[in-house]
Amino acid sequence: MNLRNLTILGATGTIGVNTLDVVARHPDRFRVVALTGQNQIEKLAEQCRQFRPRYAVVLDGDKAQALRTLLAGLDTEVLYGVEALNRVASLPEVDTVMAAIVGAAGLEPALAAARAGKRVLLANKETLVMAGHFFMQAVKDGGATLLPIDSEHNAVFQSMPDAYTGDLAAHGVRRVLLTASGGPFRTRDIDTLARVTPEEAVAHPNWVMGRKISVDSATMMNKGLEVIEAHWLFNARPDQIDVVIHPQSIVHSMVEYQDGSVLAQLSSPDMRTPIAHALAYPERVTAGVPWLDLPRIGTLTFEAPDTRRFPCLALAYRALEAGGAAPAVLNAANEEAVDAFLNHRIPYLAIAEVIAATLDRLGGGPADSLAALRASDAAARAAARELIARHTA
Ligand code: NDP
Ligand code: MG
Repeated sequence: MNLRNLTILGATGTIGVNTLDVVARHPDRFRVVALTGQNQIEKLAEQCRQFRPRYAVVLDGDKAQALRTLLAGLDTEVLYGVEALNRVASLPEVDTVMAAIVGAAGLEPALAAARAGKRVLLANKETLVMAGHFFMQAVKDGGATLLPIDSEHNAVFQSMPDAYTGDLAAHGVRRVLLTASGGPFRTRDIDTLARVTPEEAVAHPNWVMGRKISVDSATMMNKGLEVIEAHWLFNARPDQIDVVIHPQSIVHSMVEYQDGSVLAQLSSPDMRTPIAHALAYPERVTAGVPWLDLPRIGTLTFEAPDTRRFPCLALAYRALEAGGAAPAVLNAANEEAVDAFLNHRIPYLAIAEVIAATLDRLGGGPADSLAALRASDAAARAAARELIARHTA
């Protein structure tokens, strides 16, 4: 394999750190050209000292100055701002871009990488939820290669036929089965959900993740966003994507074929496996992940999700079916509601209520330009905030 030259967007986050962990195991295969972060400047400086990138990028000038001071004597150029993020995502000397910024901020640099024809390792699911159509078009126009990092989509990718062309029927695929852990509240008495605290919601049984995505796992909005993500990645209709709860998080997702075969990808719940898969694809490299010890695990179980317990899952299907800007509205309302919940401004059950009411109010809306999607995002945030304020008042 040729040496791969990487930009890691969101290097200081959970996915970024796991990516660098895999990269450090294979210095003969991967070279870091650019790293980006936002608030964790010390951590970014430490990563720069270890990986010696050509560029380090942060969002604002003050942070850039602080980082320059920390990196004195090191041959790393410090840049800042959204333009700089787009630039390091499309550098000619970079062939592979890990898109692991969290939230809507990850969209633009991921688009820049796609337009520049990079191998795009996509962790930022918001890119596909908000602007799936644009992003997939940019991948096509730019001649980019898209490799999913989200563990479910990486598992589906691995279980799909080689050279999948985006036509499920032509490849004999009947449906995609996304697995979900069910989060911390899968078995909790449903009548007590009203009293759930942020601390309980972020305590995920199997995965260590950022706080926002942890709450999304508790509500299963994370799975809802992943249904939308799967729709765009694999060109699957909503009725061709099913969700099955699998509390052990060993089977990461499955593909069902017309002949009745179901292919799955199994591994320990550790993001380094999908990351290593995408970094080395189509080759395989070690990831530092514990080998799967099936006799020790013993039992793998599956159950259907209860939409009374997890109304956010149904809301995501509703937004996907509505189409247009509805998924962007869903995403924005969810970000606002989760933030309000984490800051003790609304109770847990109000997350789904705020999202449903925002969707009711704004409907789909056009999605024929990025500007239109941004306007829907802004309108949804304004509507959600107003609904949240009623709770707080
Ligand atoms: P984290 O919150 O841990 O990390 C986010 C990264 O983005 C950090 O490097 C952060 O910088 C940076 N960042 C935050 N806001 C901005 C901004 N406005 N502009 C530029 N950079 C910013 O998130 P995760 O690593 O957990 O997740 C990253 C993405 O991957 C998300 O979209 C998530 O949904 C997805 N994902 C994550 C999984 C996981 O297991 N963690 C699994 C599947 C998907 P800093 O920390 O320095 O402030
Ligand atoms: Mg996932």
